[in-house]
Amino acid sequence: MCGGWRNVFSGAERGCPHPQQRAFDIRLWKFRTPSAVRNLLGAALSPHLLLPTLLNRSILAHSMKAAVLHGKEQILIEELDSAPLQSGEVRVAIQAALTCGTDLKVYKRGYHARMIVPPARFGHELSGIISEVAPDVRGWNFADRVVVANSAPCGECFYCQQQQENLCDDLLFLNGAYAESIVVPPRLVQKNMLRLRPQTSFADAALTEPLACVVQGIDDCAPKSGQHALVIGSGPIGLMFARLLKHQGLHVTVAGRGAARLKLARHFGVDDVVEVKDTPSMVEQLKRTRFDLTVEAVGKPETWEAAVQLVRKGGTVNFFGGCASGTAVQFDAGRLHYSNITVLASFHHIPRTIRRALELIETGIIRAADFVDGECPLTKLPDLFRSMSAGNRAVKTLVRVHQ
Ligand SMILES: [Zn+2]
Ligand SMILES: [Zn+2]
Repeated sequence: MCGGWRNVFSGAERGCPHPQQRAFDIRLWKFRTPSAVRNLLGAALSPHLLLPTLLNRSILAHSMKAAVLHGKEQILIEELDSAPLQSGEVRVAIQAALTCGTDLKVYKRGYHARMIVPPARFGHELSGIISEVAPDVRGWNFADRVVVANSAPCGECFYCQQQQENLCDDLLFLNGAYAESIVVPPRLVQKNMLRLRPQTSFADAALTEPLACVVQGIDDCAPKSGQHALVIGSGPIGLMFARLLKHQGLHVTVAGRGAARLKLARHFGVDDVVEVKDTPSMVEQLKRTRFDLTVEAVGKPETWEAAVQLVRKGGTVNFFGGCASGTAVQFDAGRLHYSNITVLASFHHIPRTIRRALELIETGIIRAADFVDGECPLTKLPDLFRSMSAGNRAVKTLVRVHQ
């Protein structure tokens, strides 16, 4: 692993309920527009802000640092113009941005057909403080602490009408978490920007988006307390599945790789942890256990196939890990039919699961201290992604965007 960042959650710090809060220095307030100045004056009266802090900042800066994805394995840290806000928009000074398996996939492939097409600002898991509000925005104020999802549905298409907003024909994606600030478009402001409780830490809140996908995945499988679940994959998503399934009273087995990740699984009470050398030996080792539910959280054809091989008769398989378009998998049709197996594939989240995810975070069931195992300054992000791509097996890294 590159030495440019350090583990902030090791040792004694783990004992602190919100150790990550210490890692944040609220360096905000880069403005230039008249509404920014108005907001700034309003802020002087805000109880949560100290005027001396504000006076130390570069109040009328015209630019900000952001990571830009230019294509396959190409990230540059650039100084970009802070564009004036348009109608309905809000600017958020980012306080926590987290790395994600999806970002790693995008980095390796160079694009994601639906979510991000380069050149584009990169990163999508964030929380922060509103630093500027367009004059026509109601209900939000300077200095509000918020989490912003990475997409918002249109609310009007066929799928939105069926409450399947994750499949919206016009899903609007937001990227740009690895940056000092981000402009949140009107639709996201209205539908998927949530206010944080004062005691919620930014690092915890930034887990809302990936957790919302997991909540969606669990809702889709409708597991019952006492059932036996197998989670294939020990990345952040697999570990979140394990944590929530345990919380719902299931017996949980995690099969994955990476000593630190498997240790985390044991740490939050997973019943059985299996270190995977290769997929065939995993199947051999686990095939005698009767799993009511198998969750594939890797995104590879062989683990999709293993998930079907390992579920019991009458059980449910959730293909949660997305494979690249065009990937083919092989199943024994006889096994699917005569064993009465339910297969489903959950994708993304809907406004309801985003709200439920934040609730799980704010009640302390999911905490960054369990999933974030490193920290990295924004300027070192290209090195971090190179290291992740080489297989450093970090769970999630907190990107420090202010230096
Ligand atoms: Zn993510
Ligand atoms: Zn829609």
